[in-house]
Amino acid sequence: MNFTLKIWRQKNPTEKGKLVTYAVTNIPPDASFLEVLDVLNTDLVRKGEEPVAFDHDCREGICGSCGIMIEGRAHGPNRKAATCELRMRSFPDGDTLTVEPWRARPFPVIKDLVVDRTAFDRIMQAGGYVSVKTGQAPDANAIPVPKHHAEEAMDAAACIGCGACVATCPNGSAMLFVAAKVSQFALLPQGHAERKERVERMLAQMDKEGFGACSNTYACEAECPKQISVEHIARLNREFVRAKAL
Ligand code: SF4
Repeated sequence: MNFTLKIWRQKNPTEKGKLVTYAVTNIPPDASFLEVLDVLNTDLVRKGEEPVAFDHDCREGICGSCGIMIEGRAHGPNRKAATCELRMRSFPDGDTLTVEPWRARPFPVIKDLVVDRTAFDRIMQAGGYVSVKTGQAPDANAIPVPKHHAEEAMDAAACIGCGACVATCPNGSAMLFVAAKVSQFALLPQGHAERKERVERMLAQMDKEGFGACSNTYACEAECPKQISVEHIARLNREFVRAKAL
């Protein structure tokens, strides 16, 4: 398969970026989108040109590193897939694809397609943890957890922190990410000790980082590669009201 890629090139956070057109040829239909960037970069390096910078790690859809806007869609057109899981057979042969970094003020561009997502780390540091008691591990059944709570917590824990929800939200809101993390702990007894402080601190940090508010467009859920439900945002709001009332 052959493609024309219009890729955002930006040398550093301060310099102005622009779309640069590249042709990639003889791409196997089963190649992932990141493998196409690998092919392009091999070619650029061979020609003595600067390769395209992009984030990647596990290439199995579980690390959350590979956030790229493809044709205006976070992680491309496929549902339930991160960019590394997107196969080129998803596009017509000969297609022209516009490839850009996440666009959100709290995620400044570092270089080309790489953005700074440490705002998410700071939100997690504000309260996205359970205090650890050292010592022997308790028996697995020492703290009973209702099955539906365990399953819902597991669904929330599937969030990989990729930031597609922010990139796709017209308000640049991080509510789905924060909701998934708050939900994950609120549903489990181990998370109850810091329940009040967690939601207050994580939301305060989210605001401090400059993320927008949620206006219920549901775009985040539609583009989330892990299909995190907006129902978790409802739980986040309930947790916040509960924290304020207690
Ligand atoms: S909620 Fe979904 S889109 Fe947002 S960071 Fe988590 S996995 Fe990515």
